[in-house]
This record gives sequence, C-alpha cells and structure tokens, in this order.
Amino acid sequence: MTEPTGKDIADLQRKIAMLEQDVQHLVSHDQLTGLLIRSAFLKRVEKVLGEQRESGPQCAIIEIGVRGIPRITGALGRHVGDYVISALAARLSSGIPSDCLLCRLDYWSFAVFLPQINDALEALITAKKLIELMNQPIDWVERSLTIEAAAGVALANKTDVDAGLFLHRAGLAYKAATEKGGPGYAFFNPALEQAARRKQDVQTAIQEALEKQFFSLAFQPYFHAMSGELAGMEALMRLKHPTLGAISPAEFIPVAEESGAIHKIGAWVLAEACRIASNWPQHILVSINFSPEQFLSGQLLSDVHNALELSSFPAYRLEVEITESTMLSDTEMVMSQLTALRELGCQIVMDDFGTGYSSLSYLWKFPFSKLKIDKSFVQAMDTKPQVKGMLRTILDLARNLGLKVTAEGIETTEQAEMLRSHHCDFIQGYLCGKPVPEAEVAAIVMSRFAASLRNLKPAAETTPPAAQRFEF
Ligand code: C2E
Ligand code: CA
Ligand code: CA
Repeated sequence: MTEPTGKDIADLQRKIAMLEQDVQHLVSHDQLTGLLIRSAFLKRVEKVLGEQRESGPQCAIIEIGVRGIPRITGALGRHVGDYVISALAARLSSGIPSDCLLCRLDYWSFAVFLPQINDALEALITAKKLIELMNQPIDWVERSLTIEAAAGVALANKTDVDAGLFLHRAGLAYKAATEKGGPGYAFFNPALEQAARRKQDVQTAIQEALEKQFFSLAFQPYFHAMSGELAGMEALMRLKHPTLGAISPAEFIPVAEESGAIHKIGAWVLAEACRIASNWPQHILVSINFSPEQFLSGQLLSDVHNALELSSFPAYRLEVEITESTMLSDTEMVMSQLTALRELGCQIVMDDFGTGYSSLSYLWKFPFSKLKIDKSFVQAMDTKPQVKGMLRTILDLARNLGLKVTAEGIETTEQAEMLRSHHCDFIQGYLCGKPVPEAEVAAIVMSRFAASLRNLKPAAETTPPAAQRFEF
C-alpha cells in the first residue's frame, strides 16, 4: 500500500468537511421544507440579539400559520397536506428579504426573523404581505385549495428578551390573531403574557381542585312564571382556591375544555347534582350545564347512567342544558346522544338562546323540550324597544314547536311582568333568587311552599291579573 500524499490528505479533509456540513444542514433543517428547525433558528436569533444588545435590539419575529390544513389532510390525505406546506414554505422564502431567517415551527406554522427593522410598521407591512401571499389558493390536481393565514408579531425593543421568550411572545400574538377573527394579525403585548400565565394558574387550580375537592355546586332556582311555584334548580359550579380565591366558571370551564379536564369535572357535577337533588321534593328538577366537549368523549351516556343509578335519581327530573356550539361540533354524534338521553327520560334544554346563530333548524331537528332565553337578551329589553317584539316572536315560535321557555337573568319586576304577560313558562334571575349553596336550598323550598299556601284563595274569589299573582 502506498503512503497517502499531501494532496490525498487534503482531499480527504475537504470531503470530511463537506460531509460535516451536510450532517450539520440535515440536523438543523426540516426535511419536508428545507427550512431551519426551531433549535437552529433560536441559536441564530440569539446570536443577532447578542450583537444588538449594546445598541438596543431592532428586530422582530413573525409567527405565521395557516388554518385549513387539517381539513385538507382529512379530506385528501397527509401527502396533500405536505404538498401544501412545501408550497407555503416556498412562498414565504420568496416573500422575505434575504437577510431574514425562516423556520418551520410545527406542522402548519412558521417563524420569520427580521434582523433589522426601523419600526413596528415595517414588521406589520411584512406580516400583511406574507399573509396575502399565503392566502393565495394552491393548485392540486384539478382542485384549488384554500387556506387562511394569520400572523403574530413580536418586537424585541428591550434588551431583556432571549430568543426563546422572543419566539414565545410571537406565538402568543399568533394565538391572539387566530382567536380574533379580525384582520388576521396581532402584535404581542404584555396583557397576552399575563392572560397566558393566568390560564396556566387556572389549569393548575383545576387539577388541585379535582384532587382536593375544592369544587362545589351552587343552585339557582327557577319558577313557574304564572304561579310562582318553584320548578327546579340549576346547578352552577363554584371553585374556591386557597390562594387564587374564587374563580368564576365562565373563566375555568373554557380552560377545562381546552385541557380535557372537563370530562372529569362533568362526571363529578352530574354525580354531585343528582346526589343532592335526590333529597329534594319530587316535583323539583335539577338542570345541569353540559360542555360540547363532553359529547365528543364517548363517556357522557355512561356518566349520566352512573349518576342516576348511584343516587337513585329518576331521569325525568334531570334537565340537560346545552348551547348551540354543541350542535355545531359533530351533529350525528350529538344527535344520537341527545336522543338516547331523551329516551332515558331526561329533558333537553337549549341554553343561551339568542346569543349564537340561533338557527331555527336546530329547534326542530334536535329533541329539545325547552329553550332558555339568554340573560343578555332579556336585559337588552330595557334599552332596545325592538327586543321586546323579538322576545314575543321567540315565545310564539316556541309555543308552535311545543317547547317550553325559560327566561334567565331577570333582575327587575318590569322584565318579569313583560315575560309573564307574554306567557313565558319559567323565569330565573337575581330578582327571583341568586345561586345559593346546597345548605340554603331547603330554605328556598320552604319559603316557596309557604308562599304557595298564602296564595291559596277560596275558589269563588276572582283571579287577580297575572302580574299581581305572586311576589318574590
Ligand atoms: P349559564 O349557564 O348561562 O348560567 C347563568 C349565569 O348567569 C350564572 O353565572 C348565573 O349565576 C348568572 N346569573 C343568573 N341570574 C342572573 C341575573 O339575574 N343577572 C346576572 N347578571 N347574572 C345572572 P355563573 O354561575 O358565573 O356561570 C357562568 C357560566 O359558566 C354558565 O352560564 C355556564 O355556561 C358555565 N357553567 C357553570 N357551571 C357549569 C357546569 O357545571 N358545567 C358547564 N359545562 N358549564 C358551567
Ligand atoms: Ca345554563
Ligand atoms: Ca346564559
């Protein structure tokens, strides 16, 4: 064997260097799009931030992503989704100045680093240009595929951000942009960070509450509008955390829905509400709010069966309150579960009527027995005269469909009178009774019983006008 010459060694070293470069490229770039991966992107952003630390950084990150990819992969396959992602990556590459960095963050989102900008406007103009570019339809075989882009912009104008936090802030802005349904872009601001931290705290509080039993139920009564008799109680969750204090269900239920904790919570509410209500007089129903997510878990029907069986509570005394968003999820799946609940004997109530699309087709397609007019609608009656007319129309419509109606959020006697005079079936609100802890339910039952005795009049006596029949 001949000794390697100096040229051979130099050749070998060159080859090794090239190989190392290839390996380096491979581990720092995404295989599908050829763009930088997150860690490599962050390294380079960190370097620029370091260089700008003295002068005060003047750079921005835009997180840009598209909705519609799951729809495309679901309908046409993952390979088409991959094709779309590659096409979008190529568009982004062609749409940014050469000194910018481009990274693929996850399946359908990217990050663009603008290393030198003069002001926020410059970043905004770039973000809007990229959104427009991404929103152009993409041709696939004989189809034209449409997607919808959104962008979140974070500016590094202070010296205290590192690359990770910087990208995180662009992500928060991106999330805000997708939630808004507005122009499709948003800037980072500190309130987004606070909101994200609060959400995290609430999620931790939910886990703790499940483990240590910090949850409880409050019960809000509702009454027959004409007789004033107690008809039922709506179970409303309460969370009292030792350090965070009372957290409203309007805040923690959406967090529980997002994290999946709603399934455990929902099962607990069902069991607890049925257990408590089984001690009440038999004519008093209990209403429970159900989240749309509970209908997608596959465990809802067994949760209901378990709760009823454990407390020997009859299904006819259980009212299931759902909102319109439940019907929007998976119509067939929801319909079959609602039908099963109805067959079991439960009542199905459409809650928050008047706030969503209020599509009339839901009212006759789904097995509802009652609809509940939302409090915002009831309260608008005071300031917007046309709302009274709409309320009358809703009441007529419900009557024609054979549905009972509850009006919630009644705070004034005028609101109660108006609804009573138009034959609303049930009323609920602070005027008639606020939500109370379990221990106070007995007092409400007793006081309504006493009131009904007071209201008993000899048969010969003339019936007073509806508005004067009873008082709360
Ligand atoms: P919702 O089902 O529409 O319940 C009515 C909300 O309005 C309750 O707020 C109630 O306390 C409040 N309210 C009742 N009468 C009046 C009134 O006259 N005026 C005003 N201003 N408010 C009134 P809460 O208890 O804070 O519950 C908020 C929402 O949280 C509920 O709205 C419901 O969507 C959700 N929620 C509560 N408990 C549960 C639960 O166990 N499961 C699920 N999935 N959601 C729940
Ligand atoms: Ca409700
Ligand atoms: Ca409501």
